[in-house]
Amino acid sequence: MEENKILNIIKKELFHGQADYTKNQPDLFIPHRFKILAPSQAGRFVEEVKASLIEKEILVYVHLPFCFTECLFCNSFPHKADEKIQKDYLNSLLKEIELLKSRGVFEGKKAKCIYFGGGTPTSFSNSDLKLILDTISASIDLSDGCSINSEAHPFTLSDRNRIRELRAIGINRLSIGCQTFDQQVLQLCNRKNSEVQIERVVKDAQDAGISINIDMMTGLPGQTMESVKRDLEILEGIRPDAVEYIRHEIVNPLIISHYKNHPELIIDHATLFQMVCMTQEWMSANGYEQNGRFTDDKQWGYRYHWLKEMPIIAIGSRARSYTRTICYDKHEELSVYSNIIRKGELPIGRYIYLTPREQMYRSLLLGIQLKKGMDIRLFRDRFSADPLDVFASLFSTLSAYGCLQQEAGAINLTKYGAYFVEDVCDYIIDAVLKEESGALIRTPHSEGKISSRL
Ligand code: SF4
Repeated sequence: MEENKILNIIKKELFHGQADYTKNQPDLFIPHRFKILAPSQAGRFVEEVKASLIEKEILVYVHLPFCFTECLFCNSFPHKADEKIQKDYLNSLLKEIELLKSRGVFEGKKAKCIYFGGGTPTSFSNSDLKLILDTISASIDLSDGCSINSEAHPFTLSDRNRIRELRAIGINRLSIGCQTFDQQVLQLCNRKNSEVQIERVVKDAQDAGISINIDMMTGLPGQTMESVKRDLEILEGIRPDAVEYIRHEIVNPLIISHYKNHPELIIDHATLFQMVCMTQEWMSANGYEQNGRFTDDKQWGYRYHWLKEMPIIAIGSRARSYTRTICYDKHEELSVYSNIIRKGELPIGRYIYLTPREQMYRSLLLGIQLKKGMDIRLFRDRFSADPLDVFASLFSTLSAYGCLQQEAGAINLTKYGAYFVEDVCDYIIDAVLKEESGALIRTPHSEGKISSRL
């Protein structure tokens, strides 16, 4: 199919823009199937989680949901940074790791990657982060070359000694939010960072032996094609080790109310579509891997293994864990989270046992976010079913759209399918929901949760 035709079909049939549900880094999320877990049931449930952890290597996610600022594009709704509250949270988090160890969850396992996500994890001090890492290392062996990543706000890395210390405590990858270098757009988003600041943080991190990623966004309020082009030129000069371009998701109530007064700042679908195409072309031309095109774990260790369905044991409030057959979330309210831990129980709030069919969908959804795609033979061995039969209708529609193909024993995304990987994944999630409930019941991934500061 000719390229323009494919792009036109994607724009018309698949592209969700940003106002509806468009989840960056999609995984299978089926909100209506979650069941509440009473604290007294947690012990038995953990035994089931352990039985489902058949792999030796796991991923450890640590949720540090605090931040000192409030960007209008933020979709993680962190708590306001506060020394006392963070100290209490840290104590609960350390106890949670010890509880997981004492229940045998880490027995015989190795951590392939550890990921500090937020919020802004670097709103905690280096010694706090070290304490968490020491507690994890005392509870689970680390795989050789374990990737230890932290998200960070560039502002928290202004002291180069801090960066060196982060390396010394074991962090070997940093992921910093930048989003754009356009000062006018940043100001509209209540965000401050400059080109000089980012350039220096990248250099200091690389000098310290830390691999560094910069997060960028398209579709920000008032952003123009010119402004995105300028961002790309600046990135070419800075040359971080990895770049991620995601779409601004309109879920934060602050930006929603801002748009109500200034609808002219909303980026229209056609421009956003062009922005996605331009940034994706640039990523490919500059050797940066992106969702849908990951070839190995060099640029995106944690994400790569997640997409290969390595289990995730998540520590901290609200954090989501996955094994191949179970998904569960921790309690979100900090007081509930801490109280349950204080009573010596694991603070699991809700869970799903994935049906075989849901497991098949998850394999497809994650597998196609890798360049090689979902391995057809492995799927047949695991499920005793042919994915081309199981997903016949999906495959036929998405290949007619020019997004999905069968290649070298796998189902993978085409070039343009990979550019719009989130939209293809949304289509697949819709198929699961339609199949299960006969209707679309998606909500924004934030589920409408509002900032704790409003
Ligand atoms: S986007 Fe990052 S820096 Fe901004 S409020 Fe959210 S967590 Fe904080």
